[in-house]
Amino acid sequence: PADVETLGRGTWTLLHTIAAQYPTQPTLGQQADVRGFIGSLSRLYPCWVCAEDFQKFLAKSPVLATSRDEFGRWLCAAHNEVNEKLGKPQFDCNLWEERWRTGWKD
Ligand code: FAD
Repeated sequence: PADVETLGRGTWTLLHTIAAQYPTQPTLGQQADVRGFIGSLSRLYPCWVCAEDFQKFLAKSPVLATSRDEFGRWLCAAHNEVNEKLGKPQFDCNLWEERWRTGWKD
């Protein structure tokens, strides 16, 4: 349905934008905040089938967030997992920062 798509686009925008602003050298407290936020989101996400699959993804691929690039790439992989499930193209994770932080070079 349309609202699952609108919700998804808005949520990915929030998450990738958080990654883009995340420190290159986060404190242990900031790393714990990110893990807690993603874990809470996976339980509260208001599309229940989405939430269930996201929790399964987290169980096999725990959040990696010891640096901005590590978190950005982990999030890109999480998003690609959903892209694959929905038959959408895979995103090249080498371009995550260009897409979400520094802007496309063209
Ligand atoms: P989106 O997938 O919303 O992507 C928005 C933009 O992000 C794209 O235009 C592109 O520029 C960029 N992008 C794409 N892939 C990546 C990537 N890997 N890394 C970085 N940037 C990228 N929908 C369902 O129908 N079923 C589900 O089970 C489901 N689970 C979801 C789970 C989560 C945690 C979230 C946040 C969303 C989920 N969605 C689910 C929604 C789905 O992922 C899409 O958001 C929705 O279908 C709209 O897709 P879209 O084509 O507009 O682009």
